[in-house]
Amino acid sequence: MSILLKESAKLIRESNFTFAFTGAGISVESGIPPFRGEHGLWNKYDPQVLDLGYFLNNSEHCWTYIREIFYDFFANAKPNDAHRILAKMESNKLLKAVVTQNIDNLHYEAGSETVYEFHGNSKKLKCLKCGKVYDAGDIDFENIPPKCVHDGEVLKPNFIFFGEGIPPDAYADSFAAAEKAEVCIIVGSTGEVTPASYVPRTAKQAGATIIEINPEETIFTSSITDIYLKGKATEVLRQLGELLF
Ligand code: NAD
Repeated sequence: MSILLKESAKLIRESNFTFAFTGAGISVESGIPPFRGEHGLWNKYDPQVLDLGYFLNNSEHCWTYIREIFYDFFANAKPNDAHRILAKMESNKLLKAVVTQNIDNLHYEAGSETVYEFHGNSKKLKCLKCGKVYDAGDIDFENIPPKCVHDGEVLKPNFIFFGEGIPPDAYADSFAAAEKAEVCIIVGSTGEVTPASYVPRTAKQAGATIIEINPEETIFTSSITDIYLKGKATEVLRQLGELLF
């Protein structure tokens, strides 16, 4: 492992364009479970509550669960050392961007500035009629479903539901980063969600070296990963940070 860590640190130092691609695994140590797997959210909740068509017709029912998952439970999560080290890598000019599948805002809270949120962000809500965007902190979640003050329409969390497209700017920025990358660091993603998983695959095709951090092997590991750093995000990134800073 230490040889692989040293090699990774050398590649990152010598690279002109490194980005991180993060998944639910980076936030597990902040107390947010992933969707899949033994302790995944889909063992407890029905994914239908995040289906756009179902939400539009059953918003009050969906909001009961959405509030519990994203605004009661997620609300207290704080960034961990893995988020912080990626932010420090950016401020030390060792990382150009974070492309994240996460919707928890923790990369921004850790201090990262260039974050492409491939699936949106739960800290904002949007009126589907007039497009007005609200901060979650300004919403009274005692009264659900929350409604737009202008037109009374139900607000939807500003992350993508099943059946919705990727936010165009995040999509374009993520693939532009992948095309330019010399190194891509994948942290805590199964690689099972498309089109997000095409981002590191595009980087690989464009010639980037892929470093993967995950306690478990994934479909990336046997297909595109060049250096597999087995372990939890905080543990591995702390060790990498010691070599980089
Ligand atoms: P996933 O749920 O499919 O897989 C999580 C991965 O994290 C697994 O490979 C697992 O081995 C790994 N992991 C678990 N603990 C880890 C740790 N301590 N350090 C590093 N890795 C660890 O995640 P995914 O590939 O991101 O796809 C799930 C989708 O669900 C994403 O699109 C995302 O939008 C969404 N999601 C987001 C959040 C969040 O915002 N925090 C949480 C759950 C799901």
